[in-house]
Amino acid sequence: MADRDGFIWFDGKLVPWREATVHGLTHSLHYGLGCFEGERAYATERGAAIFRLPEHTKRLFNSAKILQMDVSFTPEEINEATKEVIRANGLESAYIRPLFFYGAEGMGLAAKGLKVHALIAAWPWGSYLGQEALERGIRVKVSSFSRHHVNIHLCKAKASGNYMNSMLAHREAHNGGYDEALLLDREGYVAEGSGENVFMVRDGILYTPTLTSALEGITRDTILRFASDAGIPIIEKQLTRDEFYIADEAFFTGTAAEVTPIREIDDRKIGNGRRGPITEALQSRYFDTVAGRRNDHPEWLHYVD
Ligand code: PMP
Repeated sequence: MADRDGFIWFDGKLVPWREATVHGLTHSLHYGLGCFEGERAYATERGAAIFRLPEHTKRLFNSAKILQMDVSFTPEEINEATKEVIRANGLESAYIRPLFFYGAEGMGLAAKGLKVHALIAAWPWGSYLGQEALERGIRVKVSSFSRHHVNIHLCKAKASGNYMNSMLAHREAHNGGYDEALLLDREGYVAEGSGENVFMVRDGILYTPTLTSALEGITRDTILRFASDAGIPIIEKQLTRDEFYIADEAFFTGTAAEVTPIREIDDRKIGNGRRGPITEALQSRYFDTVAGRRNDHPEWLHYVD
């Protein structure tokens, strides 16, 4: 990742990609207190458009607030800088990674006198779990790792340190021959994937777990809006793993994962083991919307030019 051409926005200015480096005593590198976002820009007829940019920036600043990080930039400056990064790198579509982190101005948990640094990088990134996953669906395993307890890690923050749990779960699932992990909360209810929210469909009703230890996903919100527009009944409640086993359909949502069908959980086929009709309808509406082929939510597309 470090060795490529292009520009990264770093503390207010664009710097050449290879020069966007930090010192080894960078505080966030040691203790994991930092926050970030994952956004996507899609190619549209009118050029690159960042999907729901202000909502992502809002969540980034909410994360910083939760973590008590004093950011010296405004959300408007970060929005503008995000567009600038896409333009400077000549990207038609991209994955975008803004990050707030503490610098190397000091060490110790008191984090006194530390500067909050900000960077925004963007690069081309295809489908996160592979193109085939979007059509065929993926195989998922309930993780032996629990999702964060709400009073240990703060789950409304997209905090860097929260992702140690995600990585352990993801790695375990992969090493076991599965595509992704499904994490349960400390009470044993389904929370989310390592980097995705989760949905299931049963008897025409769309279910998704209440947001306790899961991130408030922007794709989750998008899908709930589509379902409500389409008159699909929605129930948000605590869900058990066996409710998922007997669901007709299941899928993950996330900026990176987009809308990824789940064809199997814990070696049990979900529905007929293929992408279900409601999943497919919501998925195609998602791809049409992000690419500007549908115009029912123009406020979600933020054109770079
Ligand atoms: N949960 C976790 C743990 C995530 O990392 C993500 C990805 N940001 C999501 C859910 C989905 O969030 P979004 O749809 O906003 O990308």
